[in-house]
Amino acid sequence: MNKNNGRVHTRFPPEPNGYLHIGHAKSICLNFGVAEEFHGLCNLRFDDTNPSKEEVEFVDSIKEDVRWLGFSWDDRLFYASDYFEQLFRFAVKLIEDGNAYVCDLSAEEIREYRGTLTQPGTESPYRNRTAAENMDLFMRMRAGEFPNGSRVLRAKIDMSSPNLNMRDPVIYRIMHENHHRTGDAWCIYPMYDFAHPLSDALENITHSICTLEFEDHRPLYDWLIDNLITENKPRQYEFARLNLTNTVTSKRKLRQLVEGGYVRGWDDPRMPTISGIRRRGYTPEAIRDFCDRIGVARANSLVDVALLEHCLREDLNMKAQRAMAVLDPVKVVLLNYPEDSVEMLEAENNPENPDSGKRLIPFSRTLYIEKEDFMEDPPKKYFRLSPGAEVRLKHAYIIQCQEVIKDEDGNILEIHCTYDPETKSGGAASQKKVKGTLHWVSASHAINAEIRLYDYLIRDEQPSEEEEAADNDEFLSKLNPDSCIILKNSKLEPSLNACSPGSKFQFLRQGYFCADIKDHTPENPVFNRIVGLRDSWAKANK
Ligand code: ATP
Ligand code: MG
Repeated sequence: MNKNNGRVHTRFPPEPNGYLHIGHAKSICLNFGVAEEFHGLCNLRFDDTNPSKEEVEFVDSIKEDVRWLGFSWDDRLFYASDYFEQLFRFAVKLIEDGNAYVCDLSAEEIREYRGTLTQPGTESPYRNRTAAENMDLFMRMRAGEFPNGSRVLRAKIDMSSPNLNMRDPVIYRIMHENHHRTGDAWCIYPMYDFAHPLSDALENITHSICTLEFEDHRPLYDWLIDNLITENKPRQYEFARLNLTNTVTSKRKLRQLVEGGYVRGWDDPRMPTISGIRRRGYTPEAIRDFCDRIGVARANSLVDVALLEHCLREDLNMKAQRAMAVLDPVKVVLLNYPEDSVEMLEAENNPENPDSGKRLIPFSRTLYIEKEDFMEDPPKKYFRLSPGAEVRLKHAYIIQCQEVIKDEDGNILEIHCTYDPETKSGGAASQKKVKGTLHWVSASHAINAEIRLYDYLIRDEQPSEEEEAADNDEFLSKLNPDSCIILKNSKLEPSLNACSPGSKFQFLRQGYFCADIKDHTPENPVFNRIVGLRDSWAKANK
């Protein structure tokens, strides 16, 4: 790091043509993280060189996401479009130096002339135009004299280079399009490969960190810098992009999911977008921890999404208040409990955190438990409730099942039990041991809530690299039809009644949940399950 007198200046350069996803989070953590570590700076730069796909909505969401992750660009917010005039002058300089020419071949012809990996390219018939002729044509391109696609400006490098990117790459094209920031000022736009290194140079970037697919573009990056920049030359460094099991991390594919109506918007809690993950209930701390743990390597790899979930559990285990919620309820009546009596029982808010205090939960004659916590004909070693069996109700008493009440069709209406008053949790006489402990809520005190249970959007755990890179719709056939299950009749303990959107809880035995930031209100509570409690990653990596 001595090259720039020890100075480190990075940038995160998103194209505002979609929402950021978890892969971008890795890049954000890396760019801002490296700057922080070496007491340097990191810019946020919108790489807005393609007016046809970009929108202000995306710019706003990207800013919000970077901020939410906990990073600050201070006053260093830039747009490649801020440099259009300077980039134009760089292009003029290339023409003057005999390093660029206006080419009249069509896009298809340019492709044909380019050659292949095994065959050298063929020089364009326009390659040897004089600097004066090139200058005249380029000025007229800018003035709007020519239609889209009729001419381009190309760097004059080497049509027989083994690197296709060096075979006279296009650096400016004609696009009669309105740009979200520069309006109608321009009808020629610089290509990414031209704008990017020069924007880096204009911002005095030292380390231009990008993903591996740009490795082959580095010679062009260096060629432009060497021909146009005399001091403070930025250098490009590549790292492996993040691929996650069961997850698509390509803006193009995410856009397809949104536009095809497969999900409910960019911030659908199933989406791997930062806004989707945030809405699901992930914390920025968990995502930063995840990015730390996966590290930075130059070899492409596939990371298990279970690691991301593990990081969330680690974070919320300490932070999230515990609560009881019965997702799919069935009624339990305690035959020997007084009709109108209500007892307030003490419950710890978080056993992992001694400072989290306690709360009181009402207990009464009629309760709800989970339907799946009762079985009429249980297999051996079933420790939950069944006829004659005893279980403990968390923070309360041991109960015993006496009778099952059903309707004509055999559906269970109520489970009649007795409770043992000697077995109050924390009480002196509660020596009796049972194997099962169930969560519950008091029926008359319960809050009705909607619970949204999510599963992976993509069934296929291991998308191959070719598939990830492939520009096709294969992934649509692998969508999980059960990725969102909505329960409308869940019952929550009353302490949850005043919680605000975005608050997170561990519902005992059920997982981590987050009050939906868009749909949750005190009148109509809506909770997303972030993750269940079973930590497959921790188990596999013990
Ligand atoms: P996508 O391939 O999903 O469309 P992109 O690379 O076109 O994304 P950009 O807006 O150009 O999106 O990305 C901004 C920065 O984020 C780039 O430096 C890019 O290398 C980085 N980035 C994009 N996807 C990933 C990923 N999966 N892992 C790590 N970094 C990524
Ligand atoms: Mg890109």
